[in-house]
Amino acid sequence: MCFGAVVSAVAAWLLWRTTVPDVDLVDVAATDVFPSAVLVEGDDYRAGTRAFWAGSIALQIVVLALLAWRARWLTGHLLRLVGGRVRVAASLGVLAAVTVWVASVPVGIARHGWRRQFDVTEQSYGGWLVDSAANLLVTALLVALGVSIVVALAARFGSRWWMVGGPAIAACGFVFVLLQPVVVQPLFNDFSPLNNAQLEADVREIAAAVGVGVGGVEVRDQSRRTRSANAKVTGLGPSRRVVIDDTLLGADAFERADIRFVVAHELAHVARSHVWKGVAWFALIVIPAAGLLALLLERVRPGGASDPAVVPLGLLIALLIFLATSPLQNAVSRRYEAEADWVALKATGDPEALERFMKGLVITNVGDPTRPGWVKHLLGTHPSTLERIGMSRAFVGYSSSTYSSSAACSGRFRMPSRVCHFDQQSPIASISSLINLGETLTRVTTTPGTSPSSTS
Ligand SMILES: [Zn+2]
Repeated sequence: MCFGAVVSAVAAWLLWRTTVPDVDLVDVAATDVFPSAVLVEGDDYRAGTRAFWAGSIALQIVVLALLAWRARWLTGHLLRLVGGRVRVAASLGVLAAVTVWVASVPVGIARHGWRRQFDVTEQSYGGWLVDSAANLLVTALLVALGVSIVVALAARFGSRWWMVGGPAIAACGFVFVLLQPVVVQPLFNDFSPLNNAQLEADVREIAAAVGVGVGGVEVRDQSRRTRSANAKVTGLGPSRRVVIDDTLLGADAFERADIRFVVAHELAHVARSHVWKGVAWFALIVIPAAGLLALLLERVRPGGASDPAVVPLGLLIALLIFLATSPLQNAVSRRYEAEADWVALKATGDPEALERFMKGLVITNVGDPTRPGWVKHLLGTHPSTLERIGMSRAFVGYSSSTYSSSAACSGRFRMPSRVCHFDQQSPIASISSLINLGETLTRVTTTPGTSPSSTS
């Protein structure tokens, strides 16, 4: 146990390190960059989406708590219907997913209406419902798989199931990330080749500058769902690809240089192995989380996780653990996003493109550059718009003063904040600015291991 904790701590320390030098981000005031009408609209829209998020989380907690309360009764009925411990557990998992979904449909419809009101989407309510049902299908399958593994292992290994189950769930996470672009994403979108000779040449040039193979680059037909622009890198090894939304390619707000920057940002995620690292973080979080889950379930019920009746309670605890660890997941994601921005700045040498892109993103995605602090920790997968603009402006000073030595920063396992600081400072100043940079960069991610890295 102690050995595992030490290995995890060392792994977390290695994974946490990035190659962003210790530059001081330029402070940017939202009112200097955006018209007040844009800020007000962003505030209004995001306040609504956050309320819907909080409402849907609260609803999930209540529904799972109710199911946990009636679990014994449900288990009795299911035992007669399907028989067998694992089959009952899987059925309860599917039932929980479906019940949560049904209860959440009204909130989802209201949220979709909110998005339509702000012109973020033109998708019909019917179209939204089909998407939501497809999402339920994937969720129900994953939940059924997860609880089946846990209950079967608990029946075999007792309260120590998590020592096998934790790594098994981590392995499932890896397989999911590997297969997602091929199996899951085609359920939601059509993908097509770039078919743009100029952009294809750009991609090849940028890939060479970032130092990675191009891999696949696909265009996603996201415009049928939203006008929000985005791009991402998904998959691992043979399934790895860069996906650019057609909303990004077709938007007036973005120029060719901006799209070049986005491609560089996504390829930077590849160059810095962020998806692999995300899988590793997932394992680091999910294994001790499984241990905690095993301990809590054992306390609640003598048979612990081997009793299928604990499935709803187990799902509730898993949700709460996910919420409790989301500040860590988000901090990791923000750190990798900042690194991807930095690598892209070095590859393109075009800080204006990052600034222009961030401004365009706020307009097309109705972003909120002045998000509240709690949003950063609970929902912030990326540095804020102002921090990203601040980095682009800091890069201008950085590149003109020490760009020639930047090659020394590219070693993946260096501590660049020490090695490549562009301005010699006293150790104390250096430490305080490191803290500030950490504080500044680590505001508001994708769920390591389970979600793709995205640009916005
Ligand atoms: Zn990104």
